[in-house]
Amino acid sequence: MIKKKYGQHFLINKEICKQITEKLTFKKYNELIEIGPGKGALTKFIDCKNTTLIEIDDDCVKYLKNKFPKFKNKIIQKDFLKLENKYFQNKKIGVIGNFPYNISSQIVFKIIENKKNIFEVVGMFQKELAERICSKEGSKKYGIISVLTQLHYNVEYLFEVDPNQFFPKPKVMSAVIRLQKKEKINYKINEKKIKQILKTSFNQRRKKLKNSLSKINFHLEKENNIFDKRPEQLNLEEFIFLSQNMKNEI
Ligand code: SAH
Repeated sequence: MIKKKYGQHFLINKEICKQITEKLTFKKYNELIEIGPGKGALTKFIDCKNTTLIEIDDDCVKYLKNKFPKFKNKIIQKDFLKLENKYFQNKKIGVIGNFPYNISSQIVFKIIENKKNIFEVVGMFQKELAERICSKEGSKKYGIISVLTQLHYNVEYLFEVDPNQFFPKPKVMSAVIRLQKKEKINYKINEKKIKQILKTSFNQRRKKLKNSLSKINFHLEKENNIFDKRPEQLNLEEFIFLSQNMKNEI
């Protein structure tokens, strides 16, 4: 039985499953998490001894335990979004999945929350979200999720997958992307400040920053050129610059 509420669209093209798993590089991590393994379409091709499968649906969990005895003790029946952050601590983790589309932006935010321990992500997303995550400044698709992801990860838009490769067919196109944790970040990021700037400016994305950010105080002259721009014109460095110059009181 297909459970719509869990965003179930099972991949039926083995070649594509193989291609997705081959995009993992396994260089920096020692545990791989598959989110939403479903019936194991991707799982079959995973070649990592230390793999953990996190699946919410009890029917899928039963199926997997039967079909993949070697993963029997590696299956956690849980909502990935509810996995405690301490699960990630002191580990080097990779993440793979054909993600449930209804919660995939939340999955990305959870990954970012645990960026210290998550080194690589290969994931299938609804195409529109994949594009947003990978967009650069100047694009209409560039927004909060692009900046927050790219602050910590190098992003690659790998390939698209059409609805015919799934059962049941999704209504949208899909795309596979890869995130690789940036080696060294030479800048200090105050997440709270940068998030506030992103939210406030992108909520009114057509406005210039001098209007949208007028309630936030900066250690910068009001005449600074940066305030004549709109948020989608700012690159990562400029957002960081703003957050570093934001005064404390919010
Ligand atoms: N990887 C499989 C299934 C993809 S469909 C394939 O490619 O065929 C998405 C899967 O995510 C389903 O198995 C669904 O039950 C599971 N899922 C949905 N919400 C979840 C959540 N919050 N946590 C973990 N798994 C979830």
